[in-house]
Amino acid sequence: MNYDKKKYIIWDWKNPVISHWIINPGLVVNELLLGQTVPKVMLIERKGNKPFYQRSFIPCPHCGELHSGLKFSARNKTAFKNWFGFYCDNCKEIIPVQRNLTSLLILILTFPIWGWFRKSMQKSWLDKQPERYRNINLEIPEKKNTTRDYLKSGLYFGIFMLVSMGIIYPLIYGKEITLKSIVIGVPLWIIGGVASEYTMKLWMNKKGKTQ
Ligand SMILES: [Zn+2]
Repeated sequence: MNYDKKKYIIWDWKNPVISHWIINPGLVVNELLLGQTVPKVMLIERKGNKPFYQRSFIPCPHCGELHSGLKFSARNKTAFKNWFGFYCDNCKEIIPVQRNLTSLLILILTFPIWGWFRKSMQKSWLDKQPERYRNINLEIPEKKNTTRDYLKSGLYFGIFMLVSMGIIYPLIYGKEITLKSIVIGVPLWIIGGVASEYTMKLWMNKKGKTQ
């Protein structure tokens, strides 16, 4: 599809956010277990006095609808369970997503197991989607996030990463879980989580060019 490059910055696999999604093997947990994913293409509005998350759009290649990035968010409880892709509530098709390399590899290797059920799984997943998008809220969150809020979500993220990288990841790859790696991991992931949450907040509120 052709997008208006003057109006939008186009994010595809060459963008660091999306290429990180492809490369990082730890994200296999997010993708295969939680059903978190990223679109193949994202459009970011160049101009406008709006924060980043209101300038980002996910285009549907089937009907051309530009979905606000907020439609697929934790706030709307639609950030997860997107195993088959993002659901387009306009044309009922699936918006293609970028697969993580490791999970793609796992999916290919295990295809003989789940391949048989693919169609029926996708159908029952698709049947559940309209309900999830019935009450989507695209309004700007009124309240400003306080220091406490991002500390809290950073902490959750840190714990989540600790569990996935320190326990689940070694289990998948048959590596040993050592007390040492967990002891070192605790402060590391928590500090990392808080820091990345804070950068995210700054980034998400970043405004577009005014002219
Ligand atoms: Zn569509």
